[in-house]
Amino acid sequence: MINRNPCITNLKAGYLFPEVAKRRREFAAVHPDVKIISLGIGNTTEPVLPYINTGLVEGARRLGTVEGYSGYQDEGLAALREKISSIFYNGRFTIDEIFISDGAKCDIGRLQMLFGAGTKIAVQDPSYPVYVDGSVLAGAAGGWEGSGYAGITYLPCTPENDYFPNIELIPQNSLVYFCSPNNPTGAVSTRTQLAVLIKAAVDKGCLIVFDAAYSEFIRNSSLPKTIYEIDMADRCAIEVNSFSKPAGFTGVRLGWSVVPKALKYAGGESINADWSRIAGTIFNGASNIAQAGGLAALDDEGLKEIRRLTDFYLGNAKLIRAALLKLGINCIGGDNSPYIWAQFPGRDSWEVFSQILEKCYVVTTPGAGFGPAGQGFIRFSAFGHREDVEEACKRLSTLF
Ligand code: PLP
Repeated sequence: MINRNPCITNLKAGYLFPEVAKRRREFAAVHPDVKIISLGIGNTTEPVLPYINTGLVEGARRLGTVEGYSGYQDEGLAALREKISSIFYNGRFTIDEIFISDGAKCDIGRLQMLFGAGTKIAVQDPSYPVYVDGSVLAGAAGGWEGSGYAGITYLPCTPENDYFPNIELIPQNSLVYFCSPNNPTGAVSTRTQLAVLIKAAVDKGCLIVFDAAYSEFIRNSSLPKTIYEIDMADRCAIEVNSFSKPAGFTGVRLGWSVVPKALKYAGGESINADWSRIAGTIFNGASNIAQAGGLAALDDEGLKEIRRLTDFYLGNAKLIRAALLKLGINCIGGDNSPYIWAQFPGRDSWEVFSQILEKCYVVTTPGAGFGPAGQGFIRFSAFGHREDVEEACKRLSTLF
């Protein structure tokens, strides 16, 4: 028989969210009468708002007409790429530096193809699991070594370093995953911090994959919404972004990656040209219906709806944060991001997860699932209906 890809063997057992779902199912089976509320995963819950939804509906309708029909669109609709450049990047990128995707996570997985097996990886610890698992699947790191994968350098982000890692730890010539606003901690890097990161990347010959999937939740205008607000970023960073959380497109599937033409490999070859080649080879573009929705989302009316939707989730975050602070639990995030990172010093995070589930019937995400430095933390997600979040907050008051 055919051999199993050894990279799959190298994956740590179970992806975090299926494990959380399994524990929820097991609890529900034993307590069938209990209404469990999830503040666990980062899935959106609120309907797509009307103007953006009309864009989706119109996109579907046009497909049924001779004049409006369209087929493959490869890197994406030119109009959408132009709009993304002008709205998010002040028009500084040409449309062939912007690639429309079916979501940030999908591109994060595919981008590894640019670098291949054996690439050194550095990740914030804790981090969104796909950076590590995607790297292992791509063969960029082999073998399981205690608390981390060989070939992957964990960059602890803790209260002690204000959730910004020690840049000295980043290996030469590595691929660095960086997420701000961060999932799971909710921390947002400042301009000064990102400038330090970029300088280190340029000096050390690293490439940063900057995940800005939560940038539309930033309310503090002094915080950078894109890495390209910082000088020299176009020489060392690819940015991935998404319509999932701001527009409620988690199921619609639409995102983009910026791959500047200034990016070069060690040998001087163009990373943009290679990405164009890879994208054209293994990806046939995002759904044209989703792209019609994306175009609507970037109209003035659509942008207002994005603001309304992100404000709603930030309102949830405020309630959760207040409930936790009332209990005397230290937490960060929730002000410029939909995640709240709560500290339970000296406790095992899976054990705290179980306590919250059993006592409050609320599902959360154990911090240890996001990396070794997540031990002792719980992530609360603000994605939920308001009445559920209010009820969860009421229940949390009985935690101790
Ligand atoms: N990046 C981060 C940091 C996320 O938390 C998520 C989803 O939770 C994604 C990317 C996935 O984005 P998309 O739905 O566009 O694949």
